[in-house]
Amino acid sequence: MTQDELDRLRKKLLLLEEEISDYLAKSEESAAAVEPDKGLGRLSRMEAMQDQQMVLELRRRKKRQKLEVANALSRIEKGAYGICSFCGKGIAFDRLDAFPEVQTCVACA
Ligand SMILES: [Zn+2]
Repeated sequence: MTQDELDRLRKKLLLLEEEISDYLAKSEESAAAVEPDKGLGRLSRMEAMQDQQMVLELRRRKKRQKLEVANALSRIEKGAYGICSFCGKGIAFDRLDAFPEVQTCVACA
């Protein structure tokens, strides 16, 4: 991988980190418990709880992705970025370009 390519992926990772932090901050309220006295009917209360479950699940995924992004950034610092963590081979640039936080090559994914 060239230095330019690495710089480009680092920028993507930083942007991704920002987006995820943004989402986590914005979704905090919708992830909070559905208050029993919100004046909702029984049905809309169930809907509100389903929405909440979806937000919680998405937040879980985003939090995991945020860890992966942080991991990838520290691998860049160590000069170990773009190496598959299973087989030790280089990860294709196209794959990193699409998912800069991945730690495995296509074969090991
Ligand atoms: Zn591999």
